[in-house]
Formats: sequence, structure tokens, C-alpha cells
Amino acid sequence: MELIHSGKVRDVYADGDDLILVASDRVSVYDVVLPTPIPDKGKILTRLSLWWFERLADIIPNHVISADDVPDEWRGRAIRCRRLTMLPVEWIARGYLAGLGLKEYEKSGTVSGVALPPGLVEASRLPEPIFTPTTKAAEGHDEFITFDDVVAEIGADTAERLRETTLEVYRRGAELAAERGIVIADTKLEFGRAPDGTLVLADEVLTPDSSRFWPADEWRPGRAQHSLDKQFVRDWSSTLDWDRTPPGPEIPQEVVDATRARYIEVYERLTGERWTG
Ligand code: ATP
Ligand code: MG
Repeated sequence: MELIHSGKVRDVYADGDDLILVASDRVSVYDVVLPTPIPDKGKILTRLSLWWFERLADIIPNHVISADDVPDEWRGRAIRCRRLTMLPVEWIARGYLAGLGLKEYEKSGTVSGVALPPGLVEASRLPEPIFTPTTKAAEGHDEFITFDDVVAEIGADTAERLRETTLEVYRRGAELAAERGIVIADTKLEFGRAPDGTLVLADEVLTPDSSRFWPADEWRPGRAQHSLDKQFVRDWSSTLDWDRTPPGPEIPQEVVDATRARYIEVYERLTGERWTG
């Protein structure tokens, strides 16, 4: 099979008209892949994405063809999927203020051009979920863009439809997670277009790499939250004297273990299934 793309986390192979998306155990912070893998991360992301794709299928079709019909060596962390033309936008929904969204709000009072009320603090719940797209940069960091920028890029019909879909996926995910004691603060989706023009949910969905997960019973606005996601690695990396350019630092064993435990905890709490590897 031909390797057509090696992303920060996934390797993408072409197999005829299909793609095989193979999730590795790599972890990236601030767009730098760290040299230390997190064991089982690729499998957890893959299994959790498959679980969500199924539960979102009435909102939007997804790219999954099969998780079984993949080469043995990758089974468990690979998905055979439809090869799409990806839209050059990261489709982000936020129900709470954190990360770059918080930074942007503190600078301008808006995120992606969406005006927010004054007085919000870190981890504040927003009056309603908002759509805050960014560029999908091939290199370097993604930047906030406005809804009008998205319209200019891909047309009003597609932009409006996928903005609504992004918010609907977020609301469905957040509601389900809330029943299981988890706040989904924000999430990033990716969509592509099939050859017949259909819009399709792609990549990964509502995973701890693409979303912020907080235990609901510990949520307190005004401070950093206990994170069951990649934020834990970012927080550890910011205690170091590292300028966020490659090469990234080796992750110590206890941080590897604690990160893996968080990914497993999120998987188990959301799906209600034990992680058996
Ligand atoms: P980059 O590709 O910029 O390194 P990344 O590190 O997030 O970003 P990965 O998630 O590691 O990338 O790799 C997955 C790649 O495959 C992404 O570029 C994603 O947009 C792309 N992709 C996901 N699903 C599909 C699909 N069904 N068809 C085509 N491309 C897809
Ligand atoms: Mg990705």
C-alpha cells in the first residue's frame, strides 16, 4: 500500500479507491510530535471514534467503510475509509472557554468573530455553543477565521450546513457525555466531500486528541480544569524550559502512564465499556 501522508498522529495509506487511516501512539503538543509514544493511544482514539461515528450517523454520514478489513499488523488502530477531498477548515465548536479560545477572548472579546459577553473567565460555560473555525494549515499553527472567511473559501451553502452540523455534533456529544459525568468543553471536526458531492464527517471524532474533556463534578470556572485529554501533556510540557520548536522533549514515564490512564478513563466513562486493550 502506498503511504500518501504521514500526519502528526496518523499515517494514511491508499488502497485502491479507499484510504487506510492508521492511528499511531504518537502525541503532539503545539504541533510538535514528541519522541515518546503513549501506549494504546492509537487504539483508544480509533475505537472511540468508531463508537461516536455510529452514534452520530443520523446527523451526518461518516467516512468509515470497515475497521475489520485492514491489514493484520494495524488491526485495532486502523480504519478503512472513503477517500474524500478534505475541506480546508477545522470545524470547531465550543461550549466552554478554554485554550486558544480563551486567549482570543481575552484579547478581543470575540472568538472567530463571534462576540461573547464580558466577564467570562477560564472554563466559563458559554451562553450557547459557538462555532469557531480555524484554518487547516499544512504547516505551522492554525488561525482563527470568521464564518465569512469560511463562506468565501467554500461557499455559503456548504459553510452554513457544516456550521449547523458541527454544532449539532457537539450538542449530541456534550449531552451524552454529561450523562456520564464528563464535560466536553470543545471539539474539532473535519469534513470532506465524496466524489458524488456528499459531505462526510472524516478523520477522528470526539476523542481526547480533538476535544477537551473535564470531569463534571470538578468543573470550577476561573481556574485550569482537571483534563482527561491531551491538555495534560501540554500542561506538563509548559513546566519545562522548552521553546515549543522541534525536537520535542522526552516524556517521563509517570507522565506517559498518567496520560494513558486519562485516555482510558475517558474511553471507559463515555462508552461504559472496560478497556481491555
Ligand atoms: P497534518 O495532516 O497537517 O499533519 P494532523 O497531524 O492532524 O494534521 P493526522 O490526524 O495525523 O494529521 O493525519 C490524518 C490526515 O488525514 C489529516 O490530514 C486528515 O485531514 C486526513 N483525513 C482524515 N480522514 C480523511 C479522509 N476520509 N479522506 C482524506 N483525508 C482524510
Ligand atoms: Mg489530526
